[in-house]
Amino acid sequence: MPTPLRSNDQSAPARERRNWKVRSLFAIALRRGPVRYWTGGALLVGVVAAVFFWRFSPASVRGDASVAYSEASWALANKQVATLLVADNGGRLVLKLRTPRMANGHEIRSVETVVPAQAVTLADLERWGAAGTTVRVIEPHTSNADRLIQIVSVILVLSLLVAYAVHHRGALGTNKFSPSPASRHLTLRDVGGAREAQADLRDVISYLRSPARFLAMGAHCPKGVLLVGPPGTGKTLLARAVAGEAGCPVIVAAGSDFNEMYVGIGSRRVRQLAKQAREAAPCIVFIDEFDSLGGRRGRPNRSGEEEVTLNQLLVEMDGMAGNNGVVWMAATNREDMLDPAVRRPGRFDRVVEVPLPTAADRLEILRIHASRSKLSKDVDLDRLSQLTVGHSGAELANLLNEAAIIAVQDTGDVITNAHVEQARDRILLGRVRSGMVINDQERRLIALHESGHAIVGMVACPEDKLHKITIEPRGRSLGAAHFSPEADRHLHPRRYLEGIIAKALGGRAAELVFLGPDAVTTGAGSDLVQATGIARRMVAEFGMSDTIGLVSADPNAQGGSVSGQLQGEIDTAMRALLAAQAARAEAIVRQHRDAVEALSIALIEREVLTADEAYAMAESFGVKTGRSGAATV
Ligand code: ATP
Repeated sequence: MPTPLRSNDQSAPARERRNWKVRSLFAIALRRGPVRYWTGGALLVGVVAAVFFWRFSPASVRGDASVAYSEASWALANKQVATLLVADNGGRLVLKLRTPRMANGHEIRSVETVVPAQAVTLADLERWGAAGTTVRVIEPHTSNADRLIQIVSVILVLSLLVAYAVHHRGALGTNKFSPSPASRHLTLRDVGGAREAQADLRDVISYLRSPARFLAMGAHCPKGVLLVGPPGTGKTLLARAVAGEAGCPVIVAAGSDFNEMYVGIGSRRVRQLAKQAREAAPCIVFIDEFDSLGGRRGRPNRSGEEEVTLNQLLVEMDGMAGNNGVVWMAATNREDMLDPAVRRPGRFDRVVEVPLPTAADRLEILRIHASRSKLSKDVDLDRLSQLTVGHSGAELANLLNEAAIIAVQDTGDVITNAHVEQARDRILLGRVRSGMVINDQERRLIALHESGHAIVGMVACPEDKLHKITIEPRGRSLGAAHFSPEADRHLHPRRYLEGIIAKALGGRAAELVFLGPDAVTTGAGSDLVQATGIARRMVAEFGMSDTIGLVSADPNAQGGSVSGQLQGEIDTAMRALLAAQAARAEAIVRQHRDAVEALSIALIEREVLTADEAYAMAESFGVKTGRSGAATV
């Protein structure tokens, strides 16, 4: 009967599985990447060296049997020894016998004996030599244990050296920068707002597209463009969009890439970057966070190494002819920190401001990011752009991204207005701390505090609109009365700033009015920081104090730090300003005590009140809110 095929069928999958495992192991080994290869290579070299040492290092000299010294001495004296090997610095003698002897069925051709170190003298050797024995002194050799230690040490040292080199290969100067291939993937259409910056950058784009046209007219493109603006306003995005528009590669580096603890690495990197740029020209070199590279020389905490690196950059920028098609772009939030040499003509001589987006810019940015997500019809981007005064492009992108994440968790397939609202609260106020237990007394306190902020804010600072009041503990706060400006403002009148201070002190005022001076809480800590900061700037920077007058305490204006007398006067004026606004806030709370109470009760019941609910409630108690065009107190 033929062997059933079935048995083979059963073993085939097992064999296949085994083969697959072996193949997978190989695949994993091959997929390890350069770091593992280097370490593996070092270990291999170490093992080969170990085998080599073991195999070829001089073997130790041994006799076939070990005998007592007296027996060895007798054999030497009676001329039975053909050759005497003196090993281990005279500590061991190996005697090769003239006539082999038998012991326990084995033929013994040599014997060895141990002697106390240095007991064998030169006179002994001469005597044995004279008796016809060939005397040979063997160089001291290492024992097997010694050799093992040497080998292990070699392997360890080699592995450590390679691991160190691999770990620090970035620092030791391996290439850190590589040009990203030319792509038109990102263009100026992906940048919302920043119209002036885009206009400023158009000639750079035209130059990079066809440098020859410019050269024919004898024109040079700006060699360096410095993008200056607050964080997240799209400076990096602009640089990439310029490269995309021009269809040229861009090499991106960060100022901190050039700061290393090793001497000479920073300047070496600058040379490397310049060389790569020349090879990839026409191209853009973009250095983000440029102030850490281009910072003022001679500053107190600036190291010599950093200065050398900056000098190298200046040299490289000078060294490049204007027509070689490399445009250096750099971005910083701290233009004031830069060394003047960086800004001179021929270096970063074109400064492009990238400010925070205006309402129209914000709408454009929101539209760009919204086009990548599924938005429900109830999301009003126009309204959102008005509610996000002071937000950068990055913050707007983050807002929509958070909303998308919340929508996904909500298992919805579109982003609704509720998701956007939740995302806004999460970003502005922090995550809800659902595990936090707050007792009833504290809840009442928090509700009163926030209601105080809300009513004083509505009355004293109507320019900012209430967005919502909440006593949900979020992030680090236990509650918030969240106001936001209705429109972009570039100048702030004194009355507005005083209103902000009063609003900030409204929480403490409510505690004072409802609970008395002994029961006020620590809840006003951060409010005082805000109020004091504004008061200080009003008095010391903006000339808004009648007692101080039109004097600036700015050290640049004063030619150094302010005098003790002026500082004392500033402190007194600040206190007076804060005290006046605290009294104003208290007066508003006393006047609208019922409204504050009603808001706090509603908050305790519902935790969150929308702007409409809060305004309606306040107005029903006769509060003249800014919304109804009321006069301020
Ligand atoms: P930083 O100064 O902190 O380095 P930056 O000004 O370089 O910030 P980017 O890194 O360019 O800001 O912006 C971060 C992200 O924010 C961008 O990837 C983009 O998603 C979004 N963003 C910022 N500004 C804009 C804009 N004007 N239009 C569209 N998206 C923007």
